[in-house]
Amino acid sequence: MIEIDELSLIKLVEEIKPKLVLVVCPSGIRLECIKIISNFSKKYGFNAIFLGESCYGICDLAESEASFLQVDLVLHIGHNSTLRRAGKMTYFIEAYDNISLIPVVEKALPLIKEFKNIGLCTIGPHLKRLDEVQNYLQKQGFSVYVGDSIPPLRKGQIFGCNYSTCKMIEQFVDVFLFIGSSRFHAIGLYNLLGKPVLVLDPHTKEIFPIEKDALKVQKHLLFNFYKAIDAKNIGVVIGLKEGQYNIPAALELYKELNGLGKNVYLIAMKEISNEKLNEFQNIDAFIETACPRISEDFFDKPVLSLQYGYKLIEYLKGQKI
Ligand code: SF4
Repeated sequence: MIEIDELSLIKLVEEIKPKLVLVVCPSGIRLECIKIISNFSKKYGFNAIFLGESCYGICDLAESEASFLQVDLVLHIGHNSTLRRAGKMTYFIEAYDNISLIPVVEKALPLIKEFKNIGLCTIGPHLKRLDEVQNYLQKQGFSVYVGDSIPPLRKGQIFGCNYSTCKMIEQFVDVFLFIGSSRFHAIGLYNLLGKPVLVLDPHTKEIFPIEKDALKVQKHLLFNFYKAIDAKNIGVVIGLKEGQYNIPAALELYKELNGLGKNVYLIAMKEISNEKLNEFQNIDAFIETACPRISEDFFDKPVLSLQYGYKLIEYLKGQKI
């Protein structure tokens, strides 16, 4: 069950007094958002438009849709962070999953008893309950580390592209417990720090080490990297989602790779999908500058992240990588 930060919502609506509001949220909580905001809009006298597009992160703003629709306000719900607003019209409203985390942590005790120092991390919806987990584990005799807030991350929070809260406690930790249902966060953490990561899913109560999945992803990324070395024609994809837009990096890749004898094409795309990339039949490999997580997905042609794009340039220049 999801709880929206209604107090902030009321304050915001009373302050802005919007007539037309665009509501943006991840698909997992869309139904709840529709229910809550529909009631809310009647009470506060505004019309709500629910954006029917994907929304994967705090980077996934809808400012251009908002100005096209001429709304007075964008409510971006469910991507919690230290940020209150972004762009001209977007205000973030936090949403929390009220499921208790203790049952799955209790179930994990036999699996973590060999470790002394535990690092804890989670994603936005479970942040409010992370302190409870820390206290619980401390009472069981563990030393528990939770990385302080580094904006835009809150204490103990990770994004798929930002693990700074874990990096700061890495040296003290024997194992990380990632509390959440999304494998890719845990995979990213393992692949960045190389420490054991256990996933504790509070909904399914599943507990498993992420190592196998993470190594599979590493293999996949390397395989694509080596395939991209031989690519003659490379597409550099510029993400059109506002928070993922990185044209300076795309132009840098364009210039460098051209200089290294590749035929490079700049491509702009909002949602990067296999079908859309396949339309560029002349391209042998892509580098996407939007979101580092995308290249972990499976595409027909190699798709590298920006980080691997830079590695490719170093490799082609004969530098050690
Ligand atoms: S760039 Fe990707 S990983 Fe980072 S917040 Fe956005 S969707 Fe998540």
